[in-house]
Formats: sequence, structure tokens, C-alpha cells
Amino acid sequence: MLAYEYQSDGVMRVVERDDPRPQEGELLIDVAAAGICGTDLKIARGEHRFYPPGTTRVPGHETVGVVAENRSGDDRFAPGTPVAVAPNIACGHCRPCRRGLGNLCENYESVGLTFDGGFASQLLIPAAAVANGNVMVVPDGLDLSIASLTEPIAAVVRGLRPLTVTSDDTLLICGAGPIGLIALLVAKHRGVGQVIVSQTSPHRRRIAKQLGADHTINPRERDMSEQVMELTDGAGADAIMVATPVGQVFTDALRSAAKGARVSFFAGLPSGKGEIPLDANLIHYGELIVTGSTANTNADNEEALALLASQPDLFAPLITASFPLEEADRAFEAAKGGEHLKVLIEPRR
Ligand SMILES: [Zn+2]
Ligand SMILES: [Zn+2]
Repeated sequence: MLAYEYQSDGVMRVVERDDPRPQEGELLIDVAAAGICGTDLKIARGEHRFYPPGTTRVPGHETVGVVAENRSGDDRFAPGTPVAVAPNIACGHCRPCRRGLGNLCENYESVGLTFDGGFASQLLIPAAAVANGNVMVVPDGLDLSIASLTEPIAAVVRGLRPLTVTSDDTLLICGAGPIGLIALLVAKHRGVGQVIVSQTSPHRRRIAKQLGADHTINPRERDMSEQVMELTDGAGADAIMVATPVGQVFTDALRSAAKGARVSFFAGLPSGKGEIPLDANLIHYGELIVTGSTANTNADNEEALALLASQPDLFAPLITASFPLEEADRAFEAAKGGEHLKVLIEPRR
């Protein structure tokens, strides 16, 4: 089979590999589509903690496909069944797992991170993942390219949950990358009062507007919090999602918050750069609830897949390019540039 491999010299290459052979309990999938996300670009740059120097592995964790061979013993996965794969395999017995936080599992395994992932013509799903419920049958009629958005939508569904947005609320989204734009679509679909998107790139601001943002602002032009205060009659935003890895934005987000606002540091900062100035009195006097979000659980993925199946046209505009596996280098180039939103690798194209 073909695979797009991160190799021990730190370069990614399309290579021919032996076809994987599923053992007892495992599932073999013919990959239909795999989305490229920021994590994959980080891997390609040699900066991911799960890809230390010397690693040879296939990334890709936003994977959908069709069952090629089923040795799992679970008859929902007959050959030919379309499936989406939730990437994070929780151990089920560590402390976070026992508390329902499988996304924070201490013995975490993950497709495309700790073992070979979906940038390949075939993907082998380990028995533990099948047993854990990581493989989900794609509902009838849902296009597999669109179904590949399940994992990023799951991340957003999880990130939005503690923000509890209502029709009374102004939601501020900082950053209009795929994650920020998915948050915009989901929040508008759920009937949030208004959404303000803060983003430096005019191209991305235009897209945010097309996808339903009530206001877009440029934080380079003028202080973000000043603009948010103006757009909310001095009240500030009731819910804030920081979806860009820039420390200054985290600081400014708190200054843009309304009394009693919920703030999610959805994005992480580069490792070693997590310490930033924050005015604790804004949290104290405003009774702000500040939280974060990391990865996602199988339940988040199930919720995302159901949402996608009910609203495929809502999310379809997020996919702006698709490449066959042979052109994976070009796909990564496209994903790196600022022009595209979601770029897919589709091996069966
Ligand atoms: Zn991802
Ligand atoms: Zn665990």
C-alpha cells in the first residue's frame, strides 16, 4: 500500500509499504479521506512530542473509510461498511478515565500519533480501539469526504460545552482557522445571540462573514477588547473561545469578557511559552469562568458525527481542497498556506 510517512530523518515521503494484515480483534480499513490538521503540520516540522527524533510513522487522525477486513468479531463492521474513526484510545482505568475524562487519559494511545494513522491507503485499527468504541458507522447517505470532519467538529463540540452559549449571548471567537470557523457554524446553528470573530487575515475575515459571523474585527487595527466593548454596548462578550496560539490574544480575551463570562483557552501555546500576563482581578471581579479544552472523547465524536449527518451542507464549505495520496506533499503545502481551510488526502480518488 501507499503511505505518507514521517521518516527518521525528519522528512515526510510517500512510500510503498507492505499491506497491513489484521490479527484477531483488529479491523482493516480502506481509507477514503483523511483531513490534515495543525497537529500534522507540527509533526511535519519535527516539533511533535509523540514524534521524537528517529521516529518513523504515518500521521493522520481525521480518518474515514470503508471496512476492508473485519477480524473484530463485531458484526456492525462487515466489509464495505463506511466508518469514521475517533482517534483517541483511552485506557479506561487511569484516574482521568475513571472520571469520564478519556481525552486526558494517562496511558493514551492515538491514531496517527502513537501508531500509524490515516495518510495511507489502508489503516489498521487495533483491537483495543474497536473494543473501546472508537470506530463509528457513518450514517447512510453522509458523504465520506464530509464525514472526515468528525474529529475537528468533536474537538469544537467539546470546547463549546462549558461555554453554554444561549440566544442571549455574544460569543467572541479569536482566530478563524478551521477550528474557529467550525465553532462559528456550530454556535450559529445552535442559535447563539451573536458571534464576533477576531482575525488578522482579511481573507479569513471574509470567510467568517460568509459563514455567518455577525461581526468580524481585526485585532491588529485596534485593540480587540475595545472593539468587542463597542459591539456589545460596553458589556463585553459572554462567551469567548480562544482558537489561536498567540499569548497576547489570551491576555486580551479576558479584557473582552462580560461580567460572568465563560472563557475557553481552546488553543494551546507552544511548549515553554505557556506563561503569559493575565489580570487575575478581571477573573475575580467579573466572576469569569476560565477553562480549556484538550483533544476529545468517543462521545464527543459520536455527537459530532450525528451533527454532521443532520447538517452536511452546513459544514461542506470547510473543505477547500483534496489531493490523492501520491500528491501528499502538495496537500501539506496547501494546508500550510493561509488560503485553504480543510485540506483532505483522499487515497481512493
Ligand atoms: Zn485534528
Ligand atoms: Zn486512561
